[in-house]
Amino acid sequence: MEHKRIVVKVGTSTVCHPGGTVNLRRIERLSMVLSDIKNSGSDVVLVTSGAIGAGIHKAGWTARPTSLSAKQAAAAIGQCELMSIYDRFFREYGSITAQILLTKDVLEESSARNNCTATFEELLSMHIIPIVNENDSVATEEIVYGDNDTLSAAVAALIKADLLVLLSDIDGLYDADPAIYPDAKHLDVVTDLNAVRHLAKGSHTSQGTGGMVTKLRAADIAMKAGIPVIIANGSDPDILYNITDGKKTGTLFVPQGAPQ
Ligand code: GLU
Repeated sequence: MEHKRIVVKVGTSTVCHPGGTVNLRRIERLSMVLSDIKNSGSDVVLVTSGAIGAGIHKAGWTARPTSLSAKQAAAAIGQCELMSIYDRFFREYGSITAQILLTKDVLEESSARNNCTATFEELLSMHIIPIVNENDSVATEEIVYGDNDTLSAAVAALIKADLLVLLSDIDGLYDADPAIYPDAKHLDVVTDLNAVRHLAKGSHTSQGTGGMVTKLRAADIAMKAGIPVIIANGSDPDILYNITDGKKTGTLFVPQGAPQ
């Protein structure tokens, strides 16, 4: 399977330690692997969470704030921190990054959407790695996706990606919660999303907003756009090499009509 254009989404649990501090080793490795994949000829887009988590830590809060304004302030503080770290590591591996902050309305309104596509195309033609997050510091409820799984699928559809990879703290989809049922069976390939929807029971990590429900929603959006999706464990970003080498990794969601 050749992936000319890949969107990779990393969750807060992948890029931050449990306390919210940034996981430097993980981000450095991710920057190296994504730079390498780009160097091998693919277009790479990174959708990253972690801004709110990093901002909470940097602002010195001991718990996730509940008010909208404090969460938006945390996003503003953390986004800056996160981008400066990505920029430094990617530069180390010879890559240029660019920040794109999006909200749902931008991707749904046609002229803004067209502008946005043109920006991505321009950056990718310059071999730059766009780093995307939701514009959490200004967004209001009506215009947010609220989770980066959904956002990453919308971005993948926008730029007609060949593959969407959702990296998280789980190995993919199981037929039961493996934390409760040790003999839960891992699903390698899903072709019919409706047949597995009931398996996503709103699993949540302690830090991010996503869970299996949002991942399956993302898979649905991407598959409808004809884009295959892989949910895999991001604890070792080298797993992306297995994916680009076409090795069986995580759970692969195959859109209708695509070869498996
Ligand atoms: N945009 C949020 C952040 O950067 C994360 C949303 C999510 O966890 O999906 O912190």
